[in-house]
Amino acid sequence: MKSYKDLSREELLQLHAKLEAEYEDAKGKGLKLDMSRGKPASSQLDVEMDIMDVLTSSSDYNTEAGMDCRNYGIVDGIPEAKKLMAEMMGVGSADNVIVCGNASLAIMYDTVSRSMTHGVLGSTPWCKLDKVKFLCPAPGYDRHFSVTEHFGIEMIIVPMTPQGPDMDTVEKLVSEDASIKGIWCVPKYSNPQGYSYSDETVKRFAALKPAAEDFRIFWDNAYAIHHLYDGAQDEILDIISECEKAGSPNMVYEFASTSKVSFPGAGIAAIASSKANLDDMRKAMTMQTIGYDKINQLRHVRYFKNLDGMTTHMKKHADIMRPKFEAVLKVLDGELGGLEIAQWTTPKGGYFISLETMDGCAKKTVAKCKEAGVVLTGAGAAFPYGSDPKDSNIRIAPTFPTLEELCEAADLFVLCVKLVSAEKLLDSVQAEK
Ligand code: PMP
Repeated sequence: MKSYKDLSREELLQLHAKLEAEYEDAKGKGLKLDMSRGKPASSQLDVEMDIMDVLTSSSDYNTEAGMDCRNYGIVDGIPEAKKLMAEMMGVGSADNVIVCGNASLAIMYDTVSRSMTHGVLGSTPWCKLDKVKFLCPAPGYDRHFSVTEHFGIEMIIVPMTPQGPDMDTVEKLVSEDASIKGIWCVPKYSNPQGYSYSDETVKRFAALKPAAEDFRIFWDNAYAIHHLYDGAQDEILDIISECEKAGSPNMVYEFASTSKVSFPGAGIAAIASSKANLDDMRKAMTMQTIGYDKINQLRHVRYFKNLDGMTTHMKKHADIMRPKFEAVLKVLDGELGGLEIAQWTTPKGGYFISLETMDGCAKKTVAKCKEAGVVLTGAGAAFPYGSDPKDSNIRIAPTFPTLEELCEAADLFVLCVKLVSAEKLLDSVQAEK
């Protein structure tokens, strides 16, 4: 296909008129589709319904060590759930894990909140400091940025690369500025690009020499086992042991949950870190709760048993998700390939595809889609303060709609990308005149 950039003004005008007519047609179809959030489809949730059958009114509710999960006790998670979550995160020892409630985001929020009010391992509470900053590799996960924004923490964008955050920038900023207290990371099948950090990136993270002693890496391993392809999987190094080896065992908190393994909002969530960090957290936890939902922890353990059980289960998810990713990518390749108006990622796992339009086109494209009945994640959402400096990033979440709906949504989406790009190019051709 001919690149839009090689088109003359006349050709662009013709193209624009044709795309405009197609768009008016598409609007007439009355679509009502949602590609905005990374949620499993209901067909995926059906796959795991039998998890509800492993505990019945006649089941034994005791842990292996004989603890009755129906009662209070064990604030930091039953041992077998710690083991399961350690395996899922690829963390060597279950001693490095605390299992909490239903959501990893809640643990991340609490971790930031506790640092604000009580400091980190005896450091000055962050709320007493003039300035607290976080590095935010972007595009990234919008809810991470909302947490730090909520606490008034200043966010600094770090560019992402296919190997992970730009580590030259991370190393420089972290070593020079003691007000930088943290960095948000999604190291595997990142949200939204689907990038996985290279071994070198992980090692450089572990080797960081921060100016702030209470600097922490917030390592959100949300997509640890969320592969789309059997045999072509991304794997990353275990940051917990890399930090130990590098002599900075306290520098990292790792988070994960089974939200997209069992049920979003009704799974189990965990944090992994050094003993010192976990002890600090346990102290605060005992004020917060007498214990989390151990029955759900037990249910997950009885159902999945171990990492093998989880991996087998995740293949069922992949079988439903893979055709959806491939359908979207086929439309992107077929309709936008060679036009030089957009680039997109081709993830091997996770929940998203990320697309870059020409600068200044993302907001308009998302708005056009919405006007015609297809809701995408708000443009800019993947950046701190909801503001994409280039206004070019769009997150595509292909999992929730049915395959049929998704194909309709993807067709409309590429049409909107073309229309807005043609408009933009026409504007610049006109401006040159
Ligand atoms: N982290 C990332 C990177 C996510 O994409 C999501 C879900 N969209 C979460 C965390 C939320 O996880 P949880 O349900 O465990 O809070």
